[in-house]
Amino acid sequence: MIAAPAILPPTVTVEAMSEMEVEEYRQKREITVEGRDVPKPVKSFADVRFPDYVLQEVMKAGFVEPTAIQAQGWPMALKGRDLIGIAETGSGKTLAYLLPAIVHVNAQPILAPGDGPIVLVLAPTRELAVQIQQEAAKFGASSRIKNTCIYGGVPKGPQVRDLQKGVEIVIATPGRLIDMLDSHHTNLRRVTYLVLDEADRMLDMGFEPQIRKIVSQIRPDRQTLYWSATWPKEVEQLARQFLYNPYKVIIGSADLKANHAIRQHVDIVSESQKYNKLVKLLEDIMDGSRILIFMDTKKGCDQITRQLRMDGWPALSIHGDKSQAERDWVLSEFKAGKSPIMTATDVAARGLDVKDVKYVINYDFPGSLEDYVHRIGRTGRAGAKGTAYTFFTAANARFAKELIAILKEAGQKVSPELAAMGRGAPPPPSGHGGFRVRDRDRDRDRDRDRDRGKGYGGSRPWN
Ligand code: AMP
Repeated sequence: MIAAPAILPPTVTVEAMSEMEVEEYRQKREITVEGRDVPKPVKSFADVRFPDYVLQEVMKAGFVEPTAIQAQGWPMALKGRDLIGIAETGSGKTLAYLLPAIVHVNAQPILAPGDGPIVLVLAPTRELAVQIQQEAAKFGASSRIKNTCIYGGVPKGPQVRDLQKGVEIVIATPGRLIDMLDSHHTNLRRVTYLVLDEADRMLDMGFEPQIRKIVSQIRPDRQTLYWSATWPKEVEQLARQFLYNPYKVIIGSADLKANHAIRQHVDIVSESQKYNKLVKLLEDIMDGSRILIFMDTKKGCDQITRQLRMDGWPALSIHGDKSQAERDWVLSEFKAGKSPIMTATDVAARGLDVKDVKYVINYDFPGSLEDYVHRIGRTGRAGAKGTAYTFFTAANARFAKELIAILKEAGQKVSPELAAMGRGAPPPPSGHGGFRVRDRDRDRDRDRDRDRGKGYGGSRPWN
């Protein structure tokens, strides 16, 4: 009789997956692939050939299974080929490129004095760069890979010292990295693994010349991983110039789609009603959970935040005119839940990985439906449920049709007012809509005003 083996072989191996199973899996997880010789996806962590020291960190983090982008992106990246990934922040894309990066670094000769990094990750904003670094530090710890984050708005000294000590992974925003290159604090001669994260946003922010300058200093036989949430022409053109024989993996349907775990409410309002509606809404939902409020302009952000604070709401704001120290502080207060309301502009908020944002409020409707989907995507992350409230004015009418399509696709209610705007009808004169404006709210307002001994709201310029 043959003794049973001490370790059972895995029941499902990647090789054993039939083409049909692969197809089914990709369909289920909304993975679309392009390119030659695309490897099969990995359904579980055990299926991917990461070294134990990498897997241990994943297990420690308590992750149950690879996200869609990881399931398909890991085997692609581990082949050493170039990769285009169309996936959003929140999809697990950071680890999709970082874990293969760690394997890549460990396969290279160790750094010699004067060597620059082996892995370079370019990111559009300081916030995103810092978040990437945190993941790199966490998941690279067991392999003793050193990393540093290079971004503007802070003193160069500590960054220069890190670079001079030698780091395998550099995560950088383009401007400050060029500073460091121009002043010879680092070089890109050893970079063999290049990541461009949120390429669409980097182009939006006007970083194309800097990106070109940086990439021109990196050896052409590098492996390049190019990430974007969207795929407009400019992003595609740059990919064509930077990548060789890439795989392409798209997560989610090609049509713009919102995360179905997010409840979406749209309220037709007039500009002058917004502040009072916001306060009503906050009264309704405020339970100490994190609330992220989007505004169009930095000025608007400051104004509304000041007003909210005057009215007793724990709000702070983050936008591009704030110093790095202030942005870091605001973000940490928000993350720690000390200031559970944060107002933000798109650029500042893009890519933020803040866990447990329960509500997103679009105080101003964004300039595109893509931004709308991004914004509300700050909630409902990693399997959690979230809710998005959106103020929609007559000035936003041109977005009504597309917005309705997004709401319908996600199984959300479309109010008759919004539907009418989608058909080209003018909006109701004074915003008859409303999330849940109930008599109870009004009664409560009156009670509270009495308690506070002031005519609450009476002094507000928005009234
Ligand atoms: P990202 O899209 O990279 O910003 O990741 C969003 C969040 O998901 C981060 O906090 C990650 O740590 C987390 N995450 C990454 N991979 C997984 C996974 N396989 N399972 C659960 N959470 C994950």
